[in-house]
Amino acid sequence: MENKHTIIYDFDHTLIADFFRGLKRQGPESDEITKLALHFINDLPNNPSIADIGCGTGGQTITLAQSTNGKIKAVDLMPEFVESLKENIKQLGLDKKIFPSLESMTDLSFEEAEFDLIWAEGSIYNIGYQKGLKEWRKYLKTNGYIAVSEVSWFTDSRPQEISDYWESSYPEIDTIPNKIKQMQQAGYTPVAHFIFPEICWWNYFNPMLNNIEPFLQKHNYSEGAKDLVDHLTEEIALYRKYKSDYGYVFYIGQKSDLVNGKDYIDTENIRIRAETEKDLSGIYDLIQTAFKTAKVKDGDEQDFAVKLRNSDRYIPELALVAEYNNKLIGQIMLTKTYLTTESNKEEYLLLAPISVLIEYRDQGIGSKLIHKSLDKARKSGYKAVFLCGDPAYYQRFGFRPTSEFGIKPALDIPVQYVMVYELEPNALKDRSGIVECC
Ligand code: SAH
Repeated sequence: MENKHTIIYDFDHTLIADFFRGLKRQGPESDEITKLALHFINDLPNNPSIADIGCGTGGQTITLAQSTNGKIKAVDLMPEFVESLKENIKQLGLDKKIFPSLESMTDLSFEEAEFDLIWAEGSIYNIGYQKGLKEWRKYLKTNGYIAVSEVSWFTDSRPQEISDYWESSYPEIDTIPNKIKQMQQAGYTPVAHFIFPEICWWNYFNPMLNNIEPFLQKHNYSEGAKDLVDHLTEEIALYRKYKSDYGYVFYIGQKSDLVNGKDYIDTENIRIRAETEKDLSGIYDLIQTAFKTAKVKDGDEQDFAVKLRNSDRYIPELALVAEYNNKLIGQIMLTKTYLTTESNKEEYLLLAPISVLIEYRDQGIGSKLIHKSLDKARKSGYKAVFLCGDPAYYQRFGFRPTSEFGIKPALDIPVQYVMVYELEPNALKDRSGIVECC
């Protein structure tokens, strides 16, 4: 039977809260794992300031409080979990160390540089691993630590069934080396990582299995309750079958100001906007400087941009710049181009030039410029964008060789470099012809 729910949060919130409230853990963990992860962080100050994000009923919060002299802000979105944690800490006399609060990890009330340590066990997937790492970085003090657990692939290729399951439940699942790389790109030095032993999964699943019958009884075997139980038992069955392909991994990192030897950039603070008159000389210099270090170049790209801007092909709202701390660090231009088919001359777009200053490369700024401009072009009603560039780079955005559409460039350029992106599915179906490109 196909399950109509793909992720647990598609279910009735009160049912989830009711199912998990009495359980110590809401994810595959154990006290030992929390302590082991903490063990890799050996230079915390005496009274560290700690955030525990997506704390649930607080299994790991309590372990953290008992293993450090710190004060812990523990946040979760589920009122029932926060209440349950409040009761537990009162009983354990930890109310001077743990401060629970009901808030979302996507909209935290934290101060910048407030914490020595950010903890997120089995919860960062709710915001997304990369987004969480990037957004939360600012809440850490210099050299502060982050420790997050995240589901990860152990193998390079997987059976279809499990690959489909995770693709729909959490498409950001990735291999351990990729997760580590993403942590570095988000501005952290990886400190340690380890795979959770299988026992942690059973620490999570066994109490769940024991809770199924009482839970169903309590809810009179309602459809909603049965649906939730089906979802959870499917999760357990899949784990049993495919546990050699995936599992939970703890990733521990230390805030760093360098990424691949370059200054870390807070990509959340990059502003992309249309160019204005005032930017023009800055853009000229930017293109000239950026293309000096390009793999393929003519050397006159900056003049080409001026020529386009002064022609009737220019579309002001599709000439964008990227700014960081009030400095121009990248630009992209989409201008009109024409495809001559047997019967028509049709207007499309040409992407050229695009440039990012060398010290800001490899941090996703080019991607941001491309995505934003494609988005705007689609909204303006254009149907396709042509370019001449490196297929290895552009295919990740969905650009395909124009030869697939029977379209040739007007100039004598190796065909494999001439690519196109359809802004609307099948926009170029039966549109073979010659494109003015580059
Ligand atoms: N850290 C706990 C709970 C993990 S389950 C443990 O390891 O046992 C994931 C938790 O994230 C749940 O408690 C859920 O309520 C919480 N959560 C989901 N979305 C959230 C959001 N946007 N903000 C804060 N917490 C969220």
